[in-house]
Amino acid sequence: MTECAPGKTGLTALIVEDDQAVCDVLQMFVENLGYAVVVCNTGASAQEAFAAKIPHLILMDWLLPDMDGVELSKTFRASERGKYLTILMISSKDSPEDIATAIAAGVDYFISKPFERKVLDIWLFAASRHVQDCLLREEADLALVKIQEELVDNNLQLEEALGRANIMAVEAEQAYIEINQIFKTVAGGILLVDKDCNILRCNDSFLKMARVTREESRDRKCYEIFHTCLCGSDDCPLQRIKKGKKRIESEIEKIAQDGQISYYSIISTPYHGLSEEVGIVEHITDITERVKAEKALAESERRYKELSLVDELTRLFNKRYFNTHLQLEVERANRHGHPLSLLLLDIDNFKHHNDTYGHADGDRVLARLGQVIAESLRTNDVPCRYGGEEFTIILPVTSGEQATVVAERIRARFAGEIFQPTPQETVRKTISIGVTQYLAGESGQSLLERADQNMYEAKQSGKNRYVLK
Ligand SMILES: [Mg+2]
Repeated sequence: MTECAPGKTGLTALIVEDDQAVCDVLQMFVENLGYAVVVCNTGASAQEAFAAKIPHLILMDWLLPDMDGVELSKTFRASERGKYLTILMISSKDSPEDIATAIAAGVDYFISKPFERKVLDIWLFAASRHVQDCLLREEADLALVKIQEELVDNNLQLEEALGRANIMAVEAEQAYIEINQIFKTVAGGILLVDKDCNILRCNDSFLKMARVTREESRDRKCYEIFHTCLCGSDDCPLQRIKKGKKRIESEIEKIAQDGQISYYSIISTPYHGLSEEVGIVEHITDITERVKAEKALAESERRYKELSLVDELTRLFNKRYFNTHLQLEVERANRHGHPLSLLLLDIDNFKHHNDTYGHADGDRVLARLGQVIAESLRTNDVPCRYGGEEFTIILPVTSGEQATVVAERIRARFAGEIFQPTPQETVRKTISIGVTQYLAGESGQSLLERADQNMYEAKQSGKNRYVLK
């Protein structure tokens, strides 16, 4: 194999010929055309040269020492760049059948041996033109392949984008279905409002609360169809959310045009739509029934307390009961002419006890006195906590003298009670009692005042005693 200097054109040629004289002529002609030439005298060396560098032009003999030139041209033609090769065969094997065989095997041009130099010149010119055509064709094919690859790539990208868009569309549709289901089934009203109070979306429950149809809610401001006490005030949830609040819970009262009052609990949170501007989502629950029930309960508690006749701490009757019952007993005494007496008790030095040990302990003393009184009375006697540390006991059908027995019993029992306001300390408490009997015709007030005076006298004369007058 002989390799020559690179040609002017950058093109290469491979000459496969075992006849050196022919080789030389071919090489000279081809180099004159500007090709860099590789010369091989055997088929094997030609294959080696071809594998090392694929030539643009091949001039080859048919009859080679080691192989058949036509078979060799077939393998060249079958190679990767085979279709861009220009193959010229020079052979003495030149019957029409031979030439047809060579052309069928991929040979482009055929020159019979021996050849005239002029004929060689003509066919080499034609072959060179063919080489140029092949180069253009190869270039065009490469460009086409590149375009096809780009197209395939673009198609892939498009398909991927389309696939993603389809998935997003399915997800969006699914989300839309889900949000609609939630809107329909959620307990309470849902309201979406933009930063300018425009209603973006609401559910049927909200429309029911607002008493409007969906048609009437279209293109309306929230305050136009669901005006509440918060609208236009600094407490408006939308304004507070716009100032940065993350969650607001409010309870509002709403008076309908027909005067009916409804109560609503509203949870407001920020709504971030596609724009950066903040709107609001509100979940509104009708709590009218609950609030009405609470109000009714509070009212009934208030009335119950008002009507209550029993003092909670001592479980004795209270002052209200005392006043009405004393009146009743006064009337009975006047009607039937039987005696009636009244005791008025006051704990001695009670203020000092409260100041020293606190009101809670004071309450324990009061409660104990209530027990002592209750245990010391007869069935028809009526014990009452008159107020503070003062107690009254109405004793029907009882004279003043008889009443002193009851008074003394209570005084003695209570004086025997031991209190322990602190772990280290025990104290005893005493009471002073005013005892008095009803005088025919006088008022209950007058009877009470006398009992009070007697109690005062008991205090003045040393406490822990009763005074009857
Ligand atoms: Mg030969």
